[in-house]
Amino acid sequence: MKVQTIMADLERKHPGENEYLQAVREVLESIEEVYNIHPEFEKAKIVERMVEPDRIFTFRVTWVDDRGEIQTNLGYRIQFNSAIGPYKGGIRFHKAVNPSMLKFLGFEQTFKNALTTLPMGGAKGGSDFDPVGKSDAEIMRFCQAFMWELWNNIGPDTDVPAGDVGVGGREIGYMYGMYKKLAREYNTGVLTGKGMTWGGSLIRPEATGFGALYFVEHMLAKAGKSIKGATVAISGFGNVAWGAATKATELGAKVIAISGPDGVVYNPEGMNKEKLDYMLVLRASNQNVVAPFAEKFPDATFIPAKKAWSIKCDIALPCAFQNELNGDDAAELLANGTWCAAEVSNMGCTPEAIAAFQNAGILFAPGKAVNAGGVATSGLEMTQNAMHISWSAAEVDQKLHYIMESIHAACVKYGTQEDGYINYVKGANIAGFMKVAQAMLEQGIV
Ligand code: GLU
Repeated sequence: MKVQTIMADLERKHPGENEYLQAVREVLESIEEVYNIHPEFEKAKIVERMVEPDRIFTFRVTWVDDRGEIQTNLGYRIQFNSAIGPYKGGIRFHKAVNPSMLKFLGFEQTFKNALTTLPMGGAKGGSDFDPVGKSDAEIMRFCQAFMWELWNNIGPDTDVPAGDVGVGGREIGYMYGMYKKLAREYNTGVLTGKGMTWGGSLIRPEATGFGALYFVEHMLAKAGKSIKGATVAISGFGNVAWGAATKATELGAKVIAISGPDGVVYNPEGMNKEKLDYMLVLRASNQNVVAPFAEKFPDATFIPAKKAWSIKCDIALPCAFQNELNGDDAAELLANGTWCAAEVSNMGCTPEAIAAFQNAGILFAPGKAVNAGGVATSGLEMTQNAMHISWSAAEVDQKLHYIMESIHAACVKYGTQEDGYINYVKGANIAGFMKVAQAMLEQGIV
C-alpha cells in the first residue's frame, strides 16, 4: 500500500471532506508498515474497501417549532463497517454536522469498537439540527421526526444507535418512544444510553469519562506516575466532561478548568459534588455556555474567549469536539509543563498537536482508545437487553475496568517503539485495524 496514492484517490473522490480525510490519513500512516508485511491484505484490497462506508442514508427531517413555523433539517446514518458485528455508534445533533464529519466519526468508530473486545461494527449518524436554545417540546418533535425516517434501517441485530454530542438520555428517550410506535417492536436493544427504568445500563452515563480515566491511570502507571495530586484541564462541560471530572476528582486529581464555546472557567480549588452536579444543570439548560459556573461558585473565575489549554496543568483532557486542541494550544501546554494529554473527544487534537506532544516525548493517547469505554458500555447494555437482565453498577464497572485494561494492553503491544516510547496512536490504530482486516479477509469479497 502506498498511503499517498490512496489518499490522492480519496481526495479526488471526496473533495473538501477534511475531517474524513484527516481521520483516514492518520490510520493509514500508522498501519502502513504492518500492512505491507501482510500481502494477503493487499491482495484482498482491504484498505481500499475499509475506507469507504458500506452505505449512507440521507434524509430530510421536517418538524414544527414552538412558533408554529416549519423547519427542515438534514438527517444521516452512515453504516460504515459490519465485519465484526452489527453497526454501532452514536447520533450527533450539532449545527456543523455534515457527511464529512459523520464519515470521520463512523470510520473512527469502526476501529474503536474493534478495540473494545466486543462484537460491534462501526456507524454514526446525526443531523445539522442545533439544540442550542430549543425547548423540550421542540427537541421532542425533532427527535420524533428524525426517527420517523430512520426506524426502518436500524434494529438490535442490524444497527444500534446511541448518543453523541447533543444527544443524551432525553433525546434517546424521545427517539425510542417513536421507534416503538412505528416499528411495533418492543426490543429495547435497538438503542443504547436508555433510561434506567426501560432497559438502560447502570454506569452508561458515566462510562465515557470513567473509562477515559481508567485508561489514563494505566498509562500513568506504565510510566511510573500517579494521578493523585495532578492538576487536570478539561474542555467542555457536557456528559463526557462531567464523567471525566467526576472520576479524576475521585482519584485524587484537581480539575482546575472546564470550558465552553464562550470561554474557560479557572477553578483553582478543584471540583466537589455540588460543582459536578452543576455541570449537569448547565448541560441540561441547552444554552451552551459555561460562564454561569463562575457566578455560582465564587472561588472560580470565568475568562471569556479562552480555551482550557491556556490554564497551566499537568494533564490535558479534550472532552468536547474534534480538532479542539491545535498546534498552538499544544505548544502553550508544553511550555506550561503539561506531561500527559489524552483525547476523550473523538479526534480532539489536530495532527500538528499530536506531533508536538509526541516529539516532546510526553504521554499522549488518541480518542479511539481513551473514550472507548462509552461504546463498550453500550455493548454491555446490548448484552443485558438480549439476556433480559440488568447487572449491578459494580458488575458493569468491573467489566469496564477490564475492557479499558485490555485496550491499554493492546496499545502497548502494537505501539511500543524501539526506544521504549509508547506510540499510543500507532498502537490503537494497528490493534483495531488487525481485527477488522482479519474479519474482512475471512468473509470474502462482499
Ligand atoms: N458516541 C459515542 C462514541 O463516540 C458512543 C457511541 C455508542 O455508545 O454507540 O463512541
